[in-house]
Amino acid sequence: MQPADPDLYPHARRWRDALPQYGHLIGNAWHEAGDVVGVAAPASGRPLAWLGRGTAADVDAAVAAAHAALAGEWGRTDAAGRGRILQAFARLVLAHEERLAWVEAHDTGKPISQARADIRAVARYFQFYGEAADKVHGEVIPYLNDYSVAVVREPLGVTAHITPWNYPAQMFGRTLAPALAMGNAAVLKPAEEACLVCLELGALALQAGFPAGALNIVTGLGEEAGAALTRHPGIAFISFTGSPEVGRLVQEAAAIHHIPVVLELGGKSPQLVFPDADLDAAAASVCGAITQNAGQTCSAGSRVLVARSIYAPFIERLAARFAALRIGVPGEDADLGPVINATQQRRVLDFIENAQRGGLPLLAQAPVPAGTGGFFVPPTVFGPVPSDDPLVCREVFGPVLAVQVFDDEDEAVALANGTEFGLVAGVWTRDGARQQRLARRIVSGQVFINCYGAGGGVELPFGGTKRSGHGREKGLAALDEVSTTKTVVHYYG
Ligand code: NAD
Repeated sequence: MQPADPDLYPHARRWRDALPQYGHLIGNAWHEAGDVVGVAAPASGRPLAWLGRGTAADVDAAVAAAHAALAGEWGRTDAAGRGRILQAFARLVLAHEERLAWVEAHDTGKPISQARADIRAVARYFQFYGEAADKVHGEVIPYLNDYSVAVVREPLGVTAHITPWNYPAQMFGRTLAPALAMGNAAVLKPAEEACLVCLELGALALQAGFPAGALNIVTGLGEEAGAALTRHPGIAFISFTGSPEVGRLVQEAAAIHHIPVVLELGGKSPQLVFPDADLDAAAASVCGAITQNAGQTCSAGSRVLVARSIYAPFIERLAARFAALRIGVPGEDADLGPVINATQQRRVLDFIENAQRGGLPLLAQAPVPAGTGGFFVPPTVFGPVPSDDPLVCREVFGPVLAVQVFDDEDEAVALANGTEFGLVAGVWTRDGARQQRLARRIVSGQVFINCYGAGGGVELPFGGTKRSGHGREKGLAALDEVSTTKTVVHYYG
């Protein structure tokens, strides 16, 4: 049941047109923003809220608050204590699941069930890393006689986190939970298109007991607040999730101060369907992997590579799945909702229209609801698509699937590895030896066999190869990225 609107945003002020307006969250206090950015609801196109338009001065204040936290109470909180706060936060998130899910659904346009799953994922991130906080042990290295050598893990300092609009809640959990578990103090700059849930989560973090300055949020435009954060001399690390183009700018900024970055960029992730596969299961998975979140998932399965001998029966199953898709506003809880805004809608429609103009065979398309004013695009399948076509080479970031055909395993691997990206892949076959071979030969951060996880669970290390980025989030691997080792050599002879 959808909570009444006034109850959705308890930490916002009401401003122009009585819409919620948020300031920045710095040092456990709300800082009024000098200027604002408007946010629209993707399902209706109507104004939804106002966000603070952060400046370099706001970023400065947030970084200073984070440093003060490290020098103060947060820096003195031991690992078990940090873990308790993270887990308390996870419980609070679950206690507010329904409200936060509606905030996320209105802001991103996604179906309410998906938004609920996203909020549960946030809780899971904080629970997982909260439990891990006091289990990061060092090493003892045998060295020369009369020496004892310990390698200990330490936080990096103030960490910067820049996130995209497609999963504002999940990104909050994915990037912040490991950094905070390791004892860093964080500054988050979420996406200007959708991040209301991050501000409501930030408010809950205060209730969970994070000391002042451990977690700070500055909202605003990428080229303003985002750029100021990445260039700030006070930060020790950047986690960036977003487009390859901005990822390059972020890495260049990080080079100024020689700080490490984790880049989670886009993908063109393939699923490979062999003749011995369970075609019904594969078709269901392929359809879900490109329509989840209206295709706006970095690890969306945006290509399917099909063995020629089963092309017709597989496409028949896939087209039936697409034809049955339900598209709607969040409360209708359909299979997919709109894309994020008019720009993204135009971008995806351009891909579809260009493909049609270029004569690519249209294999399936589901109709979109009329008259909502929302930014809907029709889920669409084209195939066979040549390997140099934009639908194979470029990330659409919408519900558009490209089908490719292969004759043998070598060709399948060549096609799978034939883009600039390498984030996730799926392999559908019952042949155990082929499963092993392909898991090794496919160049990507994750390979799913007879399943597809779009990034998978919180436990599973996730990240890219090639143009999809570098570094790992999720799993225990994420803790290594947000910490460093110190080798302590003790001579006692
Ligand atoms: P984007 O790169 O435009 O924006 C991402 C974030 O970067 C936003 O917070 C934005 O404000 C900020 N930003 C923009 N310009 C900046 C600058 N000059 N300096 C610092 N920060 C800046 O990406 P988007 O359009 O918001 O998201 C879509 C892209 O993100 C897609 O390419 C998608 O594949 C990718 N993505 C990747 C993952 C992953 O885990 N690999 C997850 C989600 C999205």
